[in-house]
Amino acid sequence: MAPTPDLSPPSNVELRPPLHDLYGRQLSYLRISLTDVCNLRCVYCMPEDTRFRPRHEIMSDDELLTITRIMAELGITKIRLTGGEPTVRPNLVELIRAMAQNPGICDIAMTTNGILLPQLAEPLARAGLHRVNISIDTLDPVKFKQITRWGDLDTVWAGLEAAAAAGLQPLKINVVVTRGFNDDEVVAMARLSLAHPWQIRYIELMPFGSEADFAQNTVVTSAETRQRIQEALGPLQPIPGYDGRDPAAPYRLPGALGSLGFISTISEPFCGGCSRLRLTADGKLRLCLLRDGEFDILGPLRRGVDSEMLKQQILQAAYHKPWGNGLADGEIPQLRLMSQIGG
Ligand code: SAM
Ligand code: SF4
Repeated sequence: MAPTPDLSPPSNVELRPPLHDLYGRQLSYLRISLTDVCNLRCVYCMPEDTRFRPRHEIMSDDELLTITRIMAELGITKIRLTGGEPTVRPNLVELIRAMAQNPGICDIAMTTNGILLPQLAEPLARAGLHRVNISIDTLDPVKFKQITRWGDLDTVWAGLEAAAAAGLQPLKINVVVTRGFNDDEVVAMARLSLAHPWQIRYIELMPFGSEADFAQNTVVTSAETRQRIQEALGPLQPIPGYDGRDPAAPYRLPGALGSLGFISTISEPFCGGCSRLRLTADGKLRLCLLRDGEFDILGPLRRGVDSEMLKQQILQAAYHKPWGNGLADGEIPQLRLMSQIGG
């Protein structure tokens, strides 16, 4: 249940940075979708015949850097670049170099399918990228091809090795657990954390638009995944020092070099600790991953709205970030697929 909102100051008075909402949450983390285009078509994420947005609707590099600067001035300190697939964005290395020069931004991470990391990991690290999450749902090359529709697992492993060699750490592996596709592999994935200093993150499948039925029929809860892992590999020990803002509370298997995390958006929502805002590739500020409410930043920017006025509008929009998602009331986001938000 949502706590009683702090209604002072009322929404029509001027707000001051840092970005915060009416529940008192400070919003310091921005996830930026660089593009809605992807070089894969994971079955739970987007249909094979997906049509992408025309280029003129997507933020240019200059627009993206301007919005990033504005957001940093409003209190954003941490950025995660995502997609679609962020590595297919042209000029990515230069874009990250420019973002890294922003004095307000102290952490730049990326979520990627890893396909292009063999050639990009090194230059991205040199440009200022700090770390990556790589999505790998299965260790079986045949199943990998089925889930991604045409992806090559060996290339992704080469990408992961390139990321580790380039110092993009801590390295995290995202695993969306889907019943009947890869739920029988959660133990094998957990074993990776025994010998490698990686975090394996199990994600509950979330429903979006046309893909919602698939997600609702195949979701596997974190509790079920944890139980499977513990039965096979022993007790999971919580790692001390968890600050509550990361949706995945970290655990360690006995003697493991790495760790495990469980992102339980469906079964154990973590809205109270949410410090996130999202910027879509077409320049909309999305206030909650699982709610359709958005505030247009790119439109006013292109119309030449004064940047102090735009900042005030962003502060006001963020102030009204909803407490949490509406899944329990049957509200499923319809406006965009996950690939158009980026996770
Ligand atoms: N293309 C990149 C990748 O796959 O890592 C970045 C974008 S992708 C949308 C970000 C993350 O969201 C990936 O780990 C992906 O597996 C996950 N994802 C996609 N659709 C999802 C869904 N319906 N529910 C939960 N996670 C999802
Ligand atoms: Fe592309 Fe990532 Fe979606 Fe897979 S999960 S289709 S790699 S955006």
